[in-house]
Amino acid sequence: HNSAISIHGLEKYYGDFHALKNITLEVPDKQTLVICGPSGSGKSTLVRCMNGLETYHSGTLKVLGLPIGDDTKVMDQVRKRVGMVFQNFNLFPHLTILENCVLPQIRALGRDRTAATREAREHLQKMQVDIHAEKYPDQLSGGQQQRVALARALALKPEIMLFDEPTSALDPEMISEVLEVMQELARADMTIVCVTHEMGFAKAVADRVILMAEGEIVEEGTPEQMFNNP
Ligand code: ADP
Ligand code: ADP
Repeated sequence: HNSAISIHGLEKYYGDFHALKNITLEVPDKQTLVICGPSGSGKSTLVRCMNGLETYHSGTLKVLGLPIGDDTKVMDQVRKRVGMVFQNFNLFPHLTILENCVLPQIRALGRDRTAATREAREHLQKMQVDIHAEKYPDQLSGGQQQRVALARALALKPEIMLFDEPTSALDPEMISEVLEVMQELARADMTIVCVTHEMGFAKAVADRVILMAEGEIVEEGTPEQMFNNP
């Protein structure tokens, strides 16, 4: 497959509320897609559909050729191969930083603890948070916690990374340290889908940008087409 993500005619309702309307979208392998649009336009719902965190009502949605749905074997595959980083870090508060990174590897990949610990330490070191390995999440700053969340996701060696406003809960001075890591991933040919308001990031690394409004894709283009027009 040369499309990492392939979506056709996707429809999603929350009760009577029509949250995603006829979404059709291809994300080629190794490309970076940025999703922007006002609050409530369906951006989060769309990325959450991509790894099965939200169900959808009709249309087709394939990730790495796998149909996203309720087949548990398929969804186990998806969880192994697709990583996600959220706005609010989503670290386990009662686990140390190291254990936060070790446990998902044991659970999702069946790695033994020794291998998982080695992998976790390597990624914590890359994110420059290894000195905090024995601490708990609430002892770290927001920027540090988000880099732990990145280390945790990357330790699973995902083929696709999904980001849902990963910098919007951070203090301004911590935004760049997280964006830098994401830019490195994008340049290293990771397939990335990122909901963000960071136009600098979009201009620097996006291959394509989509603009959503009221559950629809209303504009689509390269960053140049999307941001440099009058
Ligand atoms: P965005 O990420 O663009 O801010 P969301 O995908 O979070 O938008 O939400 C799109 C719309 O769907 C919003 O109007 C939101 O209130 C609604 N919505 C999101 N999640 C739910 C839910 N679990 N139940 C009902 N409505 C929801
Ligand atoms: P986002 O950062 O995506 O805009 P929100 O703050 O809108 O997140 O939503 C946070 C959580 O609340 C999500 O799990 C979402 O599904 C849920 N949610 C959002 N809007 C509604 C709604 N109108 N009714 C019920 N749940 C909602």
